[in-house]
Amino acid sequence: MKNNHVVKVLKAQFITHDVKSFVVEKPIGYDFVPGQATEISINQPKWKNEKRPFTFTNLKESNYLEFMIKIYKDRNGVTDELGRINAGDELILHDVFGTINYKGPGVFIAAGAGITPFISIFRDLYKNNQIYGNRLIYVNKTSEDVIMGNELRKMLKNNFINFYTRENVVGFQGKRIDRNFLIENIVDFSQNFYVCGPEDFVKTITKILLDLGATADAIVIEN
Ligand SMILES: Cc1cc2nc3c(=O)[nH]c(=O)nc-3n(C[C@H](O)[C@H](O)[C@H](O)COP(=O)(O)OP(=O)(O)OC[C@H]3O[C@@H](n4cnc5c(N)ncnc54)[C@H](O)[C@@H]3O)c2cc1C
Repeated sequence: MKNNHVVKVLKAQFITHDVKSFVVEKPIGYDFVPGQATEISINQPKWKNEKRPFTFTNLKESNYLEFMIKIYKDRNGVTDELGRINAGDELILHDVFGTINYKGPGVFIAAGAGITPFISIFRDLYKNNQIYGNRLIYVNKTSEDVIMGNELRKMLKNNFINFYTRENVVGFQGKRIDRNFLIENIVDFSQNFYVCGPEDFVKTITKILLDLGATADAIVIEN
């Protein structure tokens, strides 16, 4: 199969103050496992060769693809330009890749836009009545930054824990998820863990989990 697919944007809209959802055409035979990603570039002369990785958030059976993309206005990069992309514009999709996939019930720990692979996994589990037994700890600066909060609550009910690092915090010293928080919120460290977010976040959380008795095999991260 070729690894270059030009697709039209069908719908584009902001779903938080800085996260934009894109619904795009799905090339025939373009399949993925929930949790996987592709590289995207914008089909314009200046941007064609600038590829960046983004995760599918739609159900794998859908006849369209969906992405939820945090727009960094200050970086003059691809996401800043994606902020100006709308229905009718074209993107280029590349190979499907990614090591995050579901291997059984566990605790999902996400920060910010790191929620996207888990949205895909939860939507799939929910549709198949298999979401029970999974928990989500979702870390954001404030409640304004939560992506798909209502849907996550509907799917996970009480097994959805929000953690805010800057909500009602004066000054720069915010809160962090630390060892104590994980001890208080996780009873069993012999289950599966799924961790996704900025590199430092994934490193820190993985280290604490290993320290608290989780095994490397049971921790799923993007490699
Ligand atoms: C497998 C995978 C899946 C992903 N899925 C998603 C997803 O579904 N949704 C999502 O929102 N994101 C996702 N990401 C993250 C996403 O790929 C990046 O946010 C995106 O590549 C940023 O592209 P950019 O061109 O806008 O900025 P960049 O290429 O990061 O930066 C452009 C320029 O800005 C400057 N810059 C870089 N970092 C900083 C910084 N921290 N502060 C200031 N300046 C900086 C540099 O000069 C850089 O050249 C995923 C990442 C991976 C690895």
